[in-house]
Amino acid sequence: MSGQVKKGYARPLDLKHGRVDMSHGGGGRAMAQLIAELFARHLGNEYLAQGNDGACLPAAGGRLVMTTDSHVVSPLFFAGGDIGCLSVHGTVNDVAVMGATPLWLAAGFILEEGFPLADLARIVESMAHAAREAGVRLVAGDTKVVEQGKGDGVFITTTGVGVLPEGVHLSGDLARPGDAVLVSGSVGDHGVAIMSQRENLAFDTPIRSDTAALNGLTAAMLASGAALRVMRDPTRGGLAATLNEIAHQSGVGIHLDEAAIPVRPEVEAACELLGLDPLNIANEGKLIAVCAAADAERLLAAMRAHPLGREAAAIGRVTEDAHCFVQMKTRFGGRRMVDWLSGEQLPRIC
Ligand code: MG
Repeated sequence: MSGQVKKGYARPLDLKHGRVDMSHGGGGRAMAQLIAELFARHLGNEYLAQGNDGACLPAAGGRLVMTTDSHVVSPLFFAGGDIGCLSVHGTVNDVAVMGATPLWLAAGFILEEGFPLADLARIVESMAHAAREAGVRLVAGDTKVVEQGKGDGVFITTTGVGVLPEGVHLSGDLARPGDAVLVSGSVGDHGVAIMSQRENLAFDTPIRSDTAALNGLTAAMLASGAALRVMRDPTRGGLAATLNEIAHQSGVGIHLDEAAIPVRPEVEAACELLGLDPLNIANEGKLIAVCAAADAERLLAAMRAHPLGREAAAIGRVTEDAHCFVQMKTRFGGRRMVDWLSGEQLPRIC
C-alpha cells in the first residue's frame, strides 16, 4: 500500500466508500489531499498546477467575455447528464452565445458533509470530460464544506472567460422588425427530463436532458457569415422567457408559428401530464438566433450541418410592436400570447 501514499498523506483518499467530512474544507492537509487526488487528478492542467492564489493566464488578444452561473440542480444525476457536465455546459454556453470562444473556467464547490466521495468523483470526471469536449480549461477552483443538512450534496458555481473575435457584436437589443427567429432544436428536453425523474414518471421513450456545449455550433454559425443579431440559450424560463427578454431589450414584437417549433412527442406528452408548457421549460443544449431575414436560409443550413443543430428550425419573425408582445399562431390557426412566467415554475432545474 505504501506505494500509493502520496505527498505525505497518511493514506490515499477512499474513493469507494469515503465521504466528505468537515476537514475537507478546512484548508489543511485533508483539503489538499482531496484537491490533489480528486480535483487535480481529473481537471489538472498547467494553469491549475501553478498552485497560487490565482491563475496567471496569457493575454487572450481581444475583448473578453466573462460570465458566471451557480448550479443547484436536483437530482444531481439525471438522464443525459449530471451537475458536473451541466456546470460546464451552462457557463460555456453563456460565453458562446455572446459570439465568443470560451477558454477558461473557474469552479467553486459547496459540498455537504457526508456526501459520498464516489459520487463526487463521478461529478468531477463528468466536468473534466465536458471541459475537454468544449476545449476549455479549469484554471481555478475552490472547495467549501457545510455541515450535514445545511447543503444538498453538491452545489457548483462556474465562471467562464472567453475571447470575442474582432467584428463580432451580438446583443439582445439588436433585433429589428423583419428579422428571422431560429431555434437550434427541440425545446423542453432538459426540464422535462429532470421533472419526470423527480416525479418518478416512466415513458416508453425515455426523456434525456439535452445538456451540451454549444461553442462548436456557435462557431459554425458565425463562420457562415450570416448577419446575426442575437444568440441566446433558452435556459430557465425556456423559449418564452428568452424571446420576451429579446423583445423588450430590442423594443420589438415577435410572432411565432407553433407548428414550426420542434417539440419531441414524448416531451409534449409529459408536459400535458404535468400541466407544463414546453415553451416555458429550461433547455441546456439549445440556442435561439435572430438574424437578417435574407440570411436565414444560409444560417439554418450552417446550423443543420452541425450535430447539435440538425433539427434547427425557423420559428418566427420579429415585428414592429410598441408593446413588445411575443405572440404565436397556434396549430389550430388561432393566436395567443406567449408570456413569461412570473413565479418559479420549476425550482432547482439547473
Ligand atoms: Mg444564457
